[in-house]
Amino acid sequence: MASLRHQAIGAALRMLAATRLDRLAAQSLGGQGVILTFHHVRLATDREFSENRLLEVTPSFLESVLRLLRELDYDIVPMDAVPARLSSGQGRRFAAITFDDGYADTRDYALPILKRFEAPFTVYVVPGFADRLAPLWWLDLEDIVRARPNIDLTLSTGRVVLPARTPLEKRSAFRQLYWRMRALPEAEMRETIALMAADSRVDTMGRVARLCLDWAALRDFSRESLVTIGAHSLNHPRLRLLPEEAARHEMAASKARLEAEFGKPVKHFAYPVGDPTSAGARDFRLAGEVGFETAVTTRPGVLFPEHASALHALPRLSMNGLYQSTDLVRALLSGLPSGLANRFRRVNAD
Ligand SMILES: [Zn+2]
Repeated sequence: MASLRHQAIGAALRMLAATRLDRLAAQSLGGQGVILTFHHVRLATDREFSENRLLEVTPSFLESVLRLLRELDYDIVPMDAVPARLSSGQGRRFAAITFDDGYADTRDYALPILKRFEAPFTVYVVPGFADRLAPLWWLDLEDIVRARPNIDLTLSTGRVVLPARTPLEKRSAFRQLYWRMRALPEAEMRETIALMAADSRVDTMGRVARLCLDWAALRDFSRESLVTIGAHSLNHPRLRLLPEEAARHEMAASKARLEAEFGKPVKHFAYPVGDPTSAGARDFRLAGEVGFETAVTTRPGVLFPEHASALHALPRLSMNGLYQSTDLVRALLSGLPSGLANRFRRVNAD
């Protein structure tokens, strides 16, 4: 989703890095630690239309982020260590590394690098992906737009008509369609995308099988000493849009299933999608009630001692495929961009 907004963000971050203001800010705003989010780690492909590429970084970028953390003297710690690190309120800066969704590329590309750096990390697994039952709908949506010369559909919120012939039109159609989908109730969004995918001959479950680790592979992966397995719901819904009992079930049943599969406690959770529209105060409460020690959002930010009392609403810094530069990561780690953004945003548990 490379938009003007992203270009502006990129330019602002680059400017910040150039002023070295971030280095100064790091002392006051950099907080006590940080949780980094990764999705795909794999070799770059050069495709004209690939609107989800913000969710993928190259192996060499992962390596340079780890090198930067070492250079800045961060301790790289497992999620298990985060609560104690926060409540101690002091000590060296720490970073926890997290990967969402349980992709095969986490094992194939990220693991060898993380081993070289002896960096512990957490993988948030979705049983529905391992079972090949839940779709990666945002990737299906990209293929739907790729396959069609135009979009014409009627939703409960109105009709959507979008041209999608040229790469430029496809990019614009994807962005509009994506947000029209995100505005729908969870069930209608999934049904609509599934129907369009079938109509465009998008192999949704073939993709899940290609991209996501299955149970046997996950079991091997979970035995790696650096790996912590966390839960990421059963089917990756936007929990906030579900009735309470359904949201609770998504959390509790994913925890129980992973514990049964791997024979060890699963103490950490990541909210699917994870922004304020997808995870709210009720969901933070539920995560605690079903027994998770920590739960992470995708709200941007670094960690302060106060987060010791908000362990089920932890912010993370996303390593965005559109900005693969260590200067920009250094700027993000300083806490200045998220600190500034939060000053202008109402920051609360909602
Ligand atoms: Zn996810």
